[in-house]
Amino acid sequence: MYLYNSLSRKKELFVPNHPELVKMYTCGPTVYHYAHIGNLRTYIMEDVLEKYLRYLGYNVKRVMNITDVGHLSSDGDTGEDKMLKGAKREHKTVMEIAKMYTDAFFEDCRKLNIKRPDVVEPATNCIQDYIHIVQTLIDKGYGYLAGGNVYFDTSKLERYYVFNDFNAEDLDVGVREGVEEDVNKRNKNDFVLWFTQSKFEDQALKWDSPWGVGYPGWHIECTGISLKHLGEDMDIHCGGIDNAFPHHTNEIAQSESYLGHKWVNFWFHVHHLNTADGKMSKSKGEFLTVSLLESKGYDPLVYRFFCLQGHYRKNLVFTWENLDNAAAAYNKLVEKIAAVEPEGEVDAAALEELRARFRKGMDADLNTSLGITAVLDALKAKTNGATRLAAVADFDKVLGLDLIAAAERKREAARKAEAETEHDPEIEAALAARTAAKKAKNFAEADRIRDELKARGIEIIDTPQGPKWKRI
Ligand code: AMP
Ligand code: ZN
Repeated sequence: MYLYNSLSRKKELFVPNHPELVKMYTCGPTVYHYAHIGNLRTYIMEDVLEKYLRYLGYNVKRVMNITDVGHLSSDGDTGEDKMLKGAKREHKTVMEIAKMYTDAFFEDCRKLNIKRPDVVEPATNCIQDYIHIVQTLIDKGYGYLAGGNVYFDTSKLERYYVFNDFNAEDLDVGVREGVEEDVNKRNKNDFVLWFTQSKFEDQALKWDSPWGVGYPGWHIECTGISLKHLGEDMDIHCGGIDNAFPHHTNEIAQSESYLGHKWVNFWFHVHHLNTADGKMSKSKGEFLTVSLLESKGYDPLVYRFFCLQGHYRKNLVFTWENLDNAAAAYNKLVEKIAAVEPEGEVDAAALEELRARFRKGMDADLNTSLGITAVLDALKAKTNGATRLAAVADFDKVLGLDLIAAAERKREAARKAEAETEHDPEIEAALAARTAAKKAKNFAEADRIRDELKARGIEIIDTPQGPKWKRI
């Protein structure tokens, strides 16, 4: 497949480093609050990528961290630890908050058919790994102590801004967010590897280290956890586009300085879900969650479908109207699938042809909207029902929309409605006579039959499946 690589800013043919295993890493959630549906857009698209790689026959090992320490309110190492903020807000301990929101995150993932990564590692589990990396960076001359914290010295790098051509001013997070600059930094983009005496509020979770009691910075977590579980190289590192700077830029700086060689081949960044009036944020009071969608009567898979209709490298705008349109399109698709009778034997050659069409779309930088089009094409294909349904089931291993199960539920509901319908041969004969009259353009006769039935307390309801009746 061709996949866009943020590092080269080009679509590149995906070839894994080791043919037997694709190594994939995902920046996980900061568990101080519920995930908003923007965060979940990123996880949905990463899930599709993982499933598509498996669909292509690769073995995948996917690792995700859970950030339960060290992510400060500003990505530029300033402000309060987000976890501490969450704990204070809810009058709980940091660990209680971490457990509650980790569970809530995986519950949201379950509802959205997002597979749990093979390894899920909370940041607080790997403190010794970070200490080892930070010590090595200091020994190699990349780390320095100042004001009690350990910093990474970005001036030691040949190239720091690996992802973009923005000017340094735009990328100065501290200045951008109007937060006081950290005077201990030698260079404005230096970042904290290990906090001891933070000038910010006291931290609930602390560990002993060669530099004093403290806690790790956010970026070092992803380096430590990925090296622990995936080794010294990896194929794909994923995250939302806002992670590209400073988080991923800093991850690369410290990981490659520590390893002494290139670390990640592909950087996969999912662009943002925005509301009509701008960025989605957790700090703006009530925010959009999966539970909120459910409370308004939406199936979470309609949200997944909505995300798949767009391309992961384009911003997506969330409005209720857009979601309603996605719900209508999803329902229509399920109805079409429900209308296919599973007759015949699966025709292997015809199925392979349909699969090739699906792969063509998905191979083009994970074009999920073409993936959905391939489902519609399969339903229209000139082959038997069993083959068409087999294609839908096959593509849905990647799309994760529960298409076959949802269609089966629809068929079941229709069977039940049919079973509950009262049958009366005389009334049904009258309905058939009316249909025949309409077909013969004898509308007077058709109306006469309708009136006669009405006089007997029977109302005719015309539906796409033909006329039905009920007692008034
Ligand atoms: P966080 O829990 O804040 O660490 O974020 C979890 C993931 O969601 C990260 O990969 C972010 O890059 C991503 N993310 C944050 N905001 C959005 C958004 N509005 N749309 C899509 N992804 C987002
Ligand atoms: Zn990360």
